[in-house]
Amino acid sequence: MRRVSVFGATGSIGQNTLDLIARAPQEYDVVALTGGRNIAQLAADAVALRADLAVTAHEELLDDLRAALAGSGVEAAAGQAALIEAATRPADWVMSAIVGAAGLAPGIKALEQGATLALANKESLVTAGPLLMQTARAHGATILPVDSEHSAIFQALVGEEMAAVERIIITASGGAFRDWPMERLAGATLAEASAHPNWDMGQRITIDSASMFNKALEVIETKEFFGVKPEQIEVLVHPESLVHALVGFRDGALMAHVGPPDMRHAIGYALHWPERRALPVERLDLAQIGRLSFCAPDPARYPALRLAQQVMAQGGMSGAIFNAAKERALDHFIAGRIGFLDMARVVEAVLTQMSSDLSLLNAAISLDNVGETDHLARIRADEALRGLM
Ligand code: NDP
Ligand code: MG
Repeated sequence: MRRVSVFGATGSIGQNTLDLIARAPQEYDVVALTGGRNIAQLAADAVALRADLAVTAHEELLDDLRAALAGSGVEAAAGQAALIEAATRPADWVMSAIVGAAGLAPGIKALEQGATLALANKESLVTAGPLLMQTARAHGATILPVDSEHSAIFQALVGEEMAAVERIIITASGGAFRDWPMERLAGATLAEASAHPNWDMGQRITIDSASMFNKALEVIETKEFFGVKPEQIEVLVHPESLVHALVGFRDGALMAHVGPPDMRHAIGYALHWPERRALPVERLDLAQIGRLSFCAPDPARYPALRLAQQVMAQGGMSGAIFNAAKERALDHFIAGRIGFLDMARVVEAVLTQMSSDLSLLNAAISLDNVGETDHLARIRADEALRGLM
């Protein structure tokens, strides 16, 4: 039996992961499941899958979790320290699917105990890519990408040498507003930004898809995970979301990964790797689909992509600043305090301001330093926001 833990089990990726695990329960020994506010889901899954431990990130919800688990034999815990403790429990395979910078520390702890980390939490690579990769190397741990584009790149690279790679192209659907006239974007509402044309995902990443902040994070993720140069990474708008990424080799070949927009493909690939097993996803009928279309992203429409270039050029703590400012700007957009286009304005203001402090920018990438920078960037984002109001 493989020992597995799922961080962010109550979310969109987490639930898809549990769906695959629940199809073959005899193969898995579920160690820990973690969630946030959705105690009912967390408890129900922990009981159904006979987990050893269920953890909520929120200390004040411990009593609720205990009550929901009463008599089940599943241990209950709550809070940040409990999340870290859960990540140190021996497991062979750990899904990192907490949303946001909060996913970094548990992922690092899982790598320190040599687990295979299935990484959906892109923020880990954006905020602390070098730390994540070094920790994996130092402990003989493996990181498998779960973000669909990165899983696609990883699959296109099987049997290939990185030296033969000329470029990596990741596709973007263009999000909810790809066909909107620019003048309308400033007035886009939360409900409009939360409806993705092709993928069913958590609310935050869905809004990030509409603004292309998601793609900006993924460009940085590509650089950190595959170790390529920024100029080797391209973004291509592909409204059908069927080609997830392409790898261009020095002989001119492009290896494209085509698959249904269903995260259970990338999750299942990481769960069964290095095997490729049958998965409960749709089989594409390309004759029926007929055509696939591509175009270059419009830089005026998607300032996030330009900011990603700035982050990669600067390196150091830029990724942590960028991500934290983005998370905070997104909080404010969700709360109705700023408009859709203000998110990029806030992030750019924070990135520009904090990048001028070179001692901060070039601080060693440790969990503590990333945490402090993240904290500061959120404060700066609140200040920038007040400047907008
Ligand atoms: P969801 O919002 O659906 O789920 C997030 C999970 O994290 C939930 O379990 C939530 O708990 C938990 N959580 C929220 N805040 C905290 C916190 N501060 N500390 C600990 N746990 C917390 O997100 P997704 O599943 O959409 O995304 C998860 C990650 O995967 C993100 O990094 C995202 O970018 C990435 N990803 C997602 C894809 C998708 O298709 N959804 C595709 C590619 C990458 P609760 O809900 O109980 O409060
Ligand atoms: Mg993606």
